Amino acid sequence: MKNDYLIDTHCHLHDLAWFTPAQQADFLVQAHQSKVQEIICIGTNHQDSLQADAFAALHTGVYWTYGIHPEFASRPDQTSIILDSRAENSSKLLTNQYTCATMEVRNEENASLPQYFDGEKTTSESKKLPQNTILQDYEGLKRCLAQKTRLIAIGEIGLDYHYEGYDAAAQICLLEHLLQLAVDLGLPVTLHIRNAFADVWPVLDNFPSLKGVIHSFTGSKKDLKQALSRDFYIGVNGLITYNTISLPPLEKIVLETDAPFLTPVPFRGTINMPGYVSVIAAYLSNKLGEAEEIIVEQTTKNARELFKI
Ligand SMILES: [Zn+2]
Repeated sequence: MKNDYLIDTHCHLHDLAWFTPAQQADFLVQAHQSKVQEIICIGTNHQDSLQADAFAALHTGVYWTYGIHPEFASRPDQTSIILDSRAENSSKLLTNQYTCATMEVRNEENASLPQYFDGEKTTSESKKLPQNTILQDYEGLKRCLAQKTRLIAIGEIGLDYHYEGYDAAAQICLLEHLLQLAVDLGLPVTLHIRNAFADVWPVLDNFPSLKGVIHSFTGSKKDLKQALSRDFYIGVNGLITYNTISLPPLEKIVLETDAPFLTPVPFRGTINMPGYVSVIAAYLSNKLGEAEEIIVEQTTKNARELFKI
């Protein structure tokens, strides 16, 4: 099948902290006018992921992901779920031996689903939910996510050592548990890795069957080689229009905006939107010396293969 449209594989259009409902509606129309037919709304924490779910349910061609961004790794209100086993395992973190097998899981086969997963919830309702209880029930979470529609990946998850005071051990622990969630659900992952490539490869080696994308890739040529040797895709966004980024072969590129962030040239200084994938595709076409149709067709094919959409 020939793909003559684009996919924004990473944006946050569902997030009402950044977009008004009017902007959401306008930007969806603008995306379609720019031949961006499908977009993936990326969850960054539990509540935000549920917002992405609700948004995707309302709009044709919108998919969502469930993730907890590494910036929340030291926030018990977001991670108590998954990280109950953290203290006892902390000495094993940062070594290659630690695996999720050591995680304590409450097995509650007969437990009813947590109330906040029932049916469609509006954003305002979701926000009122008690956060502490979210991930203490890993099996419950897994069961609920398994029933969701249009959930196509686990992410964004990863490691981010950019800001001072980061807790590498906490981030690695959270990442490992979420990678296991992806394995258990048979989903690919969307990884956010910043200034932390050296630590992520050994973690990924414990999950050899995982497929995924490194979103907004900013690593070295060596890191690129590491990613490709694990058959990961590379997410290319507006950064390439104003920064030097190591690029993989076109067969391993998926396009994304990361809207509202990373607006491409010449729109820098304004809010980013999914329609600007077309700007990134045009820029890439120029840079690689390939016809734009080839860029469109191949990157969409890649995204469809990875996310099964
Ligand atoms: Zn993002």
